[in-house]
Amino acid sequence: MSVDSKKPILVIGLGRFGQSVARSLDRMGHEVLGVDSNAECVQLMAETLTQCLEADATDKGVLERLGVGDFEAAVVGIGTDIEASVLTTLALADLGVPQIWAKAVNENHGRILERIGATSVVFPEARMGERVAHILSGKMIDYI
Ligand code: ATP
Repeated sequence: MSVDSKKPILVIGLGRFGQSVARSLDRMGHEVLGVDSNAECVQLMAETLTQCLEADATDKGVLERLGVGDFEAAVVGIGTDIEASVLTTLALADLGVPQIWAKAVNENHGRILERIGATSVVFPEARMGERVAHILSGKMIDYI
């Protein structure tokens, strides 16, 4: 499930995970619109990304005005604030974004995200923990 490199990608929540996704997409040649409700995060990423805006992504009206319905793919990097993660994912689904990648902090969070319209749910911390354990025990072959 990849995205045409000319199509812009929306990354909402520019914490550690969102920043990492946004920087990587930028390096791969994608146009990236970054959104975060925290002015410091926005400032930090403003020079790297095509466009970076301070906004509350739980507000569907705000997302609509940003034209998110025209994006082919969006990443929701909000995790700890589960309510914000859920409302943002729901708003993106309501606005018809076809690919929604959302980060979950636990299994129940992931199930909710899938149920409300996330097309892919990722568990970065759990997956990285598993990878480290496999590398340490010499079973990296499982991940190739
Ligand atoms: P990470 O581990 O990736 O740093 P986290 O799992 O701790 O993040 P959060 O703290 O919930 O996740 O949020 C990550 C980012 O999302 C933060 O930069 C935060 O400002 C932003 N964020 C939280 N709520 C909203 C919102 N309603 N609209 C836009 N951005 C938001």
